Amino acid sequence: MPSGIVYLVGAGPGDPGLITLRGVECLQRAQVVIYDYLANEQLLNHAPQDAERIYAGKIGGRHNQDQEEINRLLVEKALAGKIVIRLKGGDPFVFGRGGEECEALASAGVPFEVVPGVTAAVGAAAYAGIPLTHRDYTASVAFVTGQEGKGKDSSTVDWECLSSGIGTVVFYMGITTLRRNMQRMIDSGRSAQTPVALVRWATTPGQQVLTGTLADIADKAETAGFKPPAITIVGEVVNLRDQLRWFDNRPLSNRRIIVTRASDQAGDFSSMLAVRGATVLECPTIKLVEPYSWLELDSAIDKLMDYDWLVLTSSNAVRFFFERLGALGLDTRSLGKCKVCAVGPKTADAIMTYGIRPDLVPSDYRAEGIVAEFSHLGISGKNVLFPHVDRARDLIPQKLKEMGAHVSSPVAYRNVLPERLCPEAIFALEKRCVDCITFTSSSTVLNLSKVLDADLLADMLKGVAVASIGPATSRSCREIGLKVDIEPAEYTLSALTEAIEKHFATA
Ligand code: SAH
Repeated sequence: MPSGIVYLVGAGPGDPGLITLRGVECLQRAQVVIYDYLANEQLLNHAPQDAERIYAGKIGGRHNQDQEEINRLLVEKALAGKIVIRLKGGDPFVFGRGGEECEALASAGVPFEVVPGVTAAVGAAAYAGIPLTHRDYTASVAFVTGQEGKGKDSSTVDWECLSSGIGTVVFYMGITTLRRNMQRMIDSGRSAQTPVALVRWATTPGQQVLTGTLADIADKAETAGFKPPAITIVGEVVNLRDQLRWFDNRPLSNRRIIVTRASDQAGDFSSMLAVRGATVLECPTIKLVEPYSWLELDSAIDKLMDYDWLVLTSSNAVRFFFERLGALGLDTRSLGKCKVCAVGPKTADAIMTYGIRPDLVPSDYRAEGIVAEFSHLGISGKNVLFPHVDRARDLIPQKLKEMGAHVSSPVAYRNVLPERLCPEAIFALEKRCVDCITFTSSSTVLNLSKVLDADLLADMLKGVAVASIGPATSRSCREIGLKVDIEPAEYTLSALTEAIEKHFATA
C-alpha cells in the first residue's frame, strides 16, 4: 500500500484568494480533507469531487477530547495510504494547534508537510488598513492569546513587558476576555488612551471593524454586541486606519448583488463588481447548450467560402460557432475572404482569441448598430451568415434582407433554464438582504419569470434595484412587471458596472 501523507495547510483568514499556491496544489491532490470552522468552505472547491470531506471544526472553543479525535483521524487516514489535507484557518502554527497535530503524526511515523497561511492578525491588519509595524510608530509586534490565564492561577504572559516593551499587540480569541485584557494592559503601564481596533470576520465581505481606546473599547464592544471571531489590535498604528482603510469603504462595499448570467459567462462581470467591494451571488437563470440539430449550421459552414460577412452578436455565438468549426475538423482558414462583424468590443475580443481581427464593430453596440453600419456600407446582393441563439430577435436578418442581402441564420446554441436556481441567492432574496439584481440579456429576465410567478417575483424584488444592460433587456424587464432602476448609456458590462456604482453612490 502506498504510504499516505498529511499536509497541514493554512487556509488564510477568510478571503478564499488568500490561500497560497502551494496550498491549492495540495488541495487539488487531496483524497481526504479535514477542515475547520474558520477555513472558508469555498476552498473545498479546489479538492477533487470525490475527495472525502470531514468537518472538524467546532464553534467556540475546542476541547482536548476533540483534538485527540482529530489527531487520531489524521493518523488513521494517512496510515490507510491517503493524501490527507488538514485545512486550518489562518496559519497552522499560529494558535492553530498545528504543533500538536504534527507531534501526533511524528510519533506515529506519518510523513507530513506544513504549508503556511496568512494568519488572522496579518489578514485583518491588511484589510482594516492598519499596518502592524510602521517606522514612525512601532518597531515590534506581538501575537498573544486572549484566553491565556483563563482558569489558571497565574498568567504566563509577561503583561508588563507586553504593555511597555511591545509596540503593536494583537490578541487572538480575545473578545470574551476583552475587558479583563484591556485593563491588564492599562494596569501594566500602557496609556489608557492607546487606540484599539477590533476586526471581526476579517477579509470577508462581512468584515466589521470597531475602534476605540484601551479605556473604552470594552464598553463600545458591549454596546455594539460585538462577537467572536475577531482579533484585537492595540497600538498607535490603529490611528492610520482613518487614512488607509480601503476594503470596507469601496463603492460597493456591503452591497449584495445577484448576477443572473450563465455560470460560464459570469466570471468577468462578477469580478468587476467584486473589486468594487460587492458581495456577488451568482444565480444563473440561463444555461447555454447545443442546438437540437447541427444540420443548418453545418451546411452553412460547408459553404463558408461563399459568404461575404459573418455576423456575431455575442461571445457565446463566437464560442459555439468556432467550436463547431473545430469539431468538423476545420479552422479559421475556412472563412477565406469572408469578413467578420462583431456587435461590440467583448465579442470582438472573443473573436480575436481565434486569431481573427473583426472587420467591423459598430459604434452602437447593438443589433441596431450593426444594421445602421450595413446600411451605410451597402449590403445588397451580399451573402451574410448570422449564427445565433434560438428564439433571438430577428431584427438583423429581417433588416439586412430588406436591404437586399441573402441572409442565413442557423441556430448555433440554445438558451435553456438551468435545473435549479442558486439556493443561496433565493435565500438572500427571501431574507431581503439583496441590494441589486442584474440582467445582461433578455433571456436572463424571461427565464427568471418562467420559474417564479410574477407576483412572487415582484414581492421578492421589492426594494432590490433592478439593473439592465440595455433597452432590449429593459423592455423584457418591463414586460414581466419589473421597474428598471439602472441602465447604462453604453451596452457593455463595464458600463453597467459603472452605472451600478453610480446608483449606489447616490442611493
Ligand atoms: N490559526 C489561526 C488562528 C486560530 S485561533 C490563524 O492563524 O489565524 C482562532 C482565533 O483567530 C479567533 O478567535 C480570532 O481571534 C482569530 N481569527 C481567525 N480568523 C479570523 C477572522 N477572519 N477575523 C478575525 N479574527 C479571526
